[in-house]
Amino acid sequence: MSQTAANMPVQHLSAGRTRKLLARYRVTEGKGFRLKDHDPTDTAGRTIHKHDAVALLNGGVERLSRLQEKLYAQDRWALLPVFQAMDAAGKDGTIKHVMSGVNPQGVQVTSFKAPSTEELRHDFLWRAVRALPERGRIGIFNRSYYEETLVVRVHPEMLEKQHLPPATVGRKIWDKRLEAIAGFERFLADQGTVVLKFFLHVSKDEQKRRFMERLNDKTKNWKFSASDLTERNYWEEYQAAYEATIAATATPHAPWYVVPADNKWFTRLVVVAAIVDTLERLDLTPAALSPAQSAAIAAARERLMQED
Ligand code: ATP
Ligand code: MG
Repeated sequence: MSQTAANMPVQHLSAGRTRKLLARYRVTEGKGFRLKDHDPTDTAGRTIHKHDAVALLNGGVERLSRLQEKLYAQDRWALLPVFQAMDAAGKDGTIKHVMSGVNPQGVQVTSFKAPSTEELRHDFLWRAVRALPERGRIGIFNRSYYEETLVVRVHPEMLEKQHLPPATVGRKIWDKRLEAIAGFERFLADQGTVVLKFFLHVSKDEQKRRFMERLNDKTKNWKFSASDLTERNYWEEYQAAYEATIAATATPHAPWYVVPADNKWFTRLVVVAAIVDTLERLDLTPAALSPAQSAAIAAARERLMQED
């Protein structure tokens, strides 16, 4: 998978196969959502073979690069792909691969860590709002405001640091946060920021295998942090929090993709296909030039021709 786009063949999934593939993982209606209906080891049966994956991924990256140029030139929409996952599910690698062919000027990645003292002095959406992509840009959230109904829900003692008025920290706090997030995403969609959310769904066994690899391979030691093991102890609590979160925030205008993450090649393929599909659904035709703009272009051409 380390080949570059330059020396690998480009291959495309047909539109029909892509649509079928994505429909398998897209969640647009939360009612009845169960995480256990989703298999982290799934690779869509015989739809795609691993040996074709690199070529398919390159094809996807190339399409994404062309669509991003249009998004940038048109300057109307913004795209906000949000990534959430358990540790070692492959968020970083996926973001790196998917964006490998994209003009760096049009994309920005924001990683959300535990909030700073300044961030804790504001409402939980504050730091996210400051990092939203401008029109024409892709803004990737590596973790996000969703941590507020995931890690904070699993460790409610974290709420103390948020200095909220006690009256706002009742039994309904998680439902209220989920409602706030759903409302926020509705607002973004109405403003032309297209939100799509990825949950990279890794199994507990595969996480163990990847942690072991990080511990055994000296070049990967830096990726390991002791807190990863602590969080692993809360696996069931996290799965429940993800399930409740996805159930409350999956909508047609801000869908979740529950992406099987035990096979990295497959995760990357689904993510790039989902982003390409989302951009293809937007009308990215550049706005027609106004008479004044057309006149300015004609005048500039004339001036350049008259040089020397
Ligand atoms: P990697 O481990 O691959 O480098 P990461 O995203 O896990 O990437 P870390 O620095 O290990 O990055 O972890 C960031 C931590 O910050 C996570 O444990 C996450 O749960 C935590 N975090 C993010 N947002 C919040 C929040 N709003 N409140 C509390 N903790 C948060
Ligand atoms: Mg980590």
